[in-house]
Amino acid sequence: MQYPCIEIDLQKIYENSRRALASCRAHGVEPVGVTKVCCAEPAVAETMVQAGFTMLADSRLDNLERIAHINVPKMLLRLPMVSEAERAVQLADVSLISEKRTAEALSAAAMRQNKQHGVILMMELGDLREGCADEAAVFELAKLCISLEGLDLQGIGGNLICYGGAMPSVENQGQLITLRDRLENQLGIKLPVVSGGNSAVENIMTRGKLPNGVNQLRIGAMIHAGIGLMDEPIKGYHTDAYVIHAEVIERNRKPTMPYGELGTDAFGQKRDWIDYGEIERAIVAIGRADCDLESLTPVDAGVKVLGASSDHLIVDLSRSKQKYMVGDKVSFYAGYVSILRACMSRYVKVNFKNRIDSLARN
Ligand SMILES: *Cc1c(COP(=O)(O)O)cnc(C)c1O
Repeated sequence: MQYPCIEIDLQKIYENSRRALASCRAHGVEPVGVTKVCCAEPAVAETMVQAGFTMLADSRLDNLERIAHINVPKMLLRLPMVSEAERAVQLADVSLISEKRTAEALSAAAMRQNKQHGVILMMELGDLREGCADEAAVFELAKLCISLEGLDLQGIGGNLICYGGAMPSVENQGQLITLRDRLENQLGIKLPVVSGGNSAVENIMTRGKLPNGVNQLRIGAMIHAGIGLMDEPIKGYHTDAYVIHAEVIERNRKPTMPYGELGTDAFGQKRDWIDYGEIERAIVAIGRADCDLESLTPVDAGVKVLGASSDHLIVDLSRSKQKYMVGDKVSFYAGYVSILRACMSRYVKVNFKNRIDSLARN
């Protein structure tokens, strides 16, 4: 075994997927399975499809390329770059768009490839990330998409919580329905998809507050980290599908306060230190290059993360019952950002538990 590594429990991914699919479908929603947090790790994506996802989505084309062999339609979540339009049409079946220039580039690429490329028009709902700024702009974009060859205008959508923290609500979800109705009536078209948002929308959905007609959610965090609105754990979902293991490379008794004249640390920060005297501590061979301290929870509740530089993580062992020695491993539950960093880090090996072929196929 090589360290550090991230161990992915595919049974937990499977169970989270099953639960989310059942919950969404009970509310008239067909969820799209988002894979970006694990860089579309193929075994994870395969497990999601095994559980029943009928579409996978990612923000990056390089990730979609990793799962090109999986036989379900794919969605590109991030607005396509004009420069990647050709590849977007190759690797995705549907793109979320908000710009005319992008629609034209996708249309040209689709025509060259003799394909129909699906588009969903994004509407700004208050979060201030992607989306047409007003209704006039969506109408313009819709008309253009109808006129362009190679494009299949499938619906409209919105995104929330990611940039501005704008919460999903009956109002902003209802706004999508109103908009769909206006577009359908005034342009004489059918828009089968209303893509309400991400895992954060689960909260209003399960409380029965999702307006009728919102029929797609794009969900990742729920599946991989078991979290929804405001990163709160969702009852009944596994929050520990991803566990990071790293090795102790030094164990020592040292003061809690650095000494000598103090400047800024490796990340330009100056901390306020509190003196707790000497403690038992260890250096673990993993760092900020591979994980995120805020979303790293030691499996051993007696271990406390004190801080880290790029390649070194310092932990306090004074409350642990276990006697960690050099060469021993320390394990951490990985939250969203740590999953992302670990899967992205070339220094972190990916291992699987309960692989897909051992799963019951029900
Ligand atoms: C990442 C992303 C999602 C999924 O978000 P989760 O919080 O992981 O469910 C949905 N839509 C878009 C546009 C995204 O970029």
